[in-house]
Amino acid sequence: MTRILIIEDERAIRIALEDDFIAEGYQVDSANTGNVGLQKGSEQNYDIILLDIMLPEMDGFGVLKELRKRNVQTPIIMLTAKNLEIDKILGLEFGADDYVTKPFSPRELQARVKALLRRVNIKRDYLLKLNSHLEK
Ligand code: CA
Repeated sequence: MTRILIIEDERAIRIALEDDFIAEGYQVDSANTGNVGLQKGSEQNYDIILLDIMLPEMDGFGVLKELRKRNVQTPIIMLTAKNLEIDKILGLEFGADDYVTKPFSPRELQARVKALLRRVNIKRDYLLKLNSHLEK
């Protein structure tokens, strides 16, 4: 089962996302602050993390930077309310894999998540093949 962590402080959005991903068959966990999100994201294994930017305590960029610093390689999609180019660039430079701009449609987000998981799996398979080839 695919495990997803949703880090989002806005209750209505968080619950809608939880419901959507549960309905799609994901195992869903969530956090409503940056600190809790960072803790869960670094202590548990997820297949993908959805990370809001505007969060209490520690913002999404702080969480992203800290996760990557702790060598957490989980694919991350940033959720941003600001449609500013700088945010997108910063998010990607800090090690995010994709972003969606709010308001987003649940269908678009699902598609982005699936596409990202597919990319990650293709890369993983390729590296596994490469390793077994090199070991021969
Ligand atoms: Ca927020």
